[in-house]
Amino acid sequence: MEALTDMKVLLCERIHPAAEAAFHQAGLRVERRDGALEGASPSELAGTAILGIRSKTEIDAATIERLPDLLAIGCFCIGTNQVDLRAAMRRAVTVFNAPFSNTRSVAELTLAEVVALNRRLVDKSMLMHGGRWDKSSAGAHEVRGRTLGIIGYGHIGSQVSVLAEAFGMRVVYFDIVQRLPLGNAQPRSSLSDVLREADCVSLHVPATPATHNLIGAAEIATMKPGAMIINNARGSVVDLHAAAAALQTGHLGGIAADVFPEEPALNDAPFACPLAGLPNVILTPHVGGSTEEAQRNIAVEVSEKLARFVRTGTTTSAVNVPEVDLPSPLADQLRILHFHRNVPGVLSRINGIMADLGVNINAEYLRSNAEVSYVILDVDPVPADVVETRLSAIPETIRVRTIHEQGEGTRRVDGQHAGTGMSKGPQKLHLGACGP
Ligand code: NAD
Repeated sequence: MEALTDMKVLLCERIHPAAEAAFHQAGLRVERRDGALEGASPSELAGTAILGIRSKTEIDAATIERLPDLLAIGCFCIGTNQVDLRAAMRRAVTVFNAPFSNTRSVAELTLAEVVALNRRLVDKSMLMHGGRWDKSSAGAHEVRGRTLGIIGYGHIGSQVSVLAEAFGMRVVYFDIVQRLPLGNAQPRSSLSDVLREADCVSLHVPATPATHNLIGAAEIATMKPGAMIINNARGSVVDLHAAAAALQTGHLGGIAADVFPEEPALNDAPFACPLAGLPNVILTPHVGGSTEEAQRNIAVEVSEKLARFVRTGTTTSAVNVPEVDLPSPLADQLRILHFHRNVPGVLSRINGIMADLGVNINAEYLRSNAEVSYVILDVDPVPADVVETRLSAIPETIRVRTIHEQGEGTRRVDGQHAGTGMSKGPQKLHLGACGP
C-alpha cells in the first residue's frame, strides 16, 4: 500500500496499541496522550485530523471548533454518548465506534453464569472463604438438557445461543424482529412463551421504552418455580425489587446481574442493590464486555474504519453522518468528497461547476440525512485546488476534501496548466490516494 500523507492521529486515554499499529500501517502519523483530551496543549491539538478517544473525553461543539483540521473521531469503546454527535455532523466530522467488538466477551460471561447459577458456585465459594466446608449436591444441576430462554436474539443473544447448545442446552428465544435461528434454537412468538418454558432466562435487549422493566413481578410470576434470570443487557430491563422478592420466596432460583439501574461513575464508589446478600446471586460491576480481547478488537475495528475513511471516504457504520460504502479511488482519478447542508439545489450546483470546468464525472454517490448530504464524485484529472475553491464557494458547503495520487503535481482543466493542488486550509485537505 502506498504511503498516505503526514496526517496526524491523536490517540487519547491509552487506547490499545493495536490501533497505533493499524494507523502506522495505513501511513498515518500517530501521537499519543495518556489522559483525556481535556487539558491538551494547543501544540498537542494542532493539526489533528483524526482523534481517538475512549469514555473519559467529552467532545462538545466548542471542542470541535478548537480542532479545525478534524475529519473524524474514533470512539474506541461501545457507546458514543461522550460526543455531541450533532455538533460533529454539522462540522462534517465523522464519528465511528465499535458497537459489537465485545459481543463474545458478554456471551462467554453469560454461559459461565448459566453454569455457575445452576451449580450454586458463588454460594459454595463464599462458604469456603468463610471457613466452611459444605459438600452437598442439593440444588446443583447440570445444564445439559435444560432450557435456556433468550430475550433479544441479536449479536449477543445469538452467540449465547450457539454456546448454550454446545453445552447441550435446549434454546428458545423471542425477538421483536424475525431472526434466523442458529443451530437448533427455536423462536417463540412472545416473551411470555419463553418465560413459561425456560429454566433460565437471559436478557439481551437494548434499553428502550419498550424494554423498561420488561421483567417485573407479573412476568416473574409466570416463570417456572426455581427458574433463573441473567441480565447482562441494561439495568433498566429488570425490576430488581420484584426479582429480589421472588428470590426471597424461592420462586426464583438465582440471578446474575452485570448491569443496574444506577451504576457508580467511579471505582470504589459505594454500591447498593436489592439483590445484595441474597442467595445464589452473582453481581458483577458492568464488566460483561470488559476483556483484553474486546479492547484489542475495539482498537482494530475502529482504526480500520478510520483508515478506510481517510483512504476512500467510506462512512459505513458511522454514527452521525450519512453512510456511504465506497470502492478504492481509481488511479488517475480525483475523488471529491463534499459535505453540505441538505437543502434543495446543491447537487445541481455541484454538477454545474463540474460542467463549467469541463470535468468528466465517472462516478457519483449521494446519501443524505435530515440535515447534511454527502456527495462523492470520481472525476477525470483536474486540479484539486480549483475544484475545492469552486465547491467551497457554494454557501451550503461544510467541507470539501479531495483524494488523489500523491505526487501527481500537475493537473489540467480545459487545457490550462494548473498547480499541484496540494494547498491546505481549514475546510480542505488533500490526501494521497492509497490503493489496496
Ligand atoms: P443487538 O442490537 O445486536 O441485539 C438486540 C436485540 O434485541 C435485537 O435483535 C432487537 O431486535 C431485540 N429487541 C429489541 N427490543 C426487544 C424487545 N422488546 N423484546 C425482544 N427483543 C427485542 O444488541 P447486542 O449487541 O446483542 O446487545 C444486547 C444488549 O447487551 C444491549 O442492551 C447492550 O447495551 C448490552 N451490552 C452489555 C454489555 C455489558 O458489558 N454487560 C456489553 C455489550 C452490550
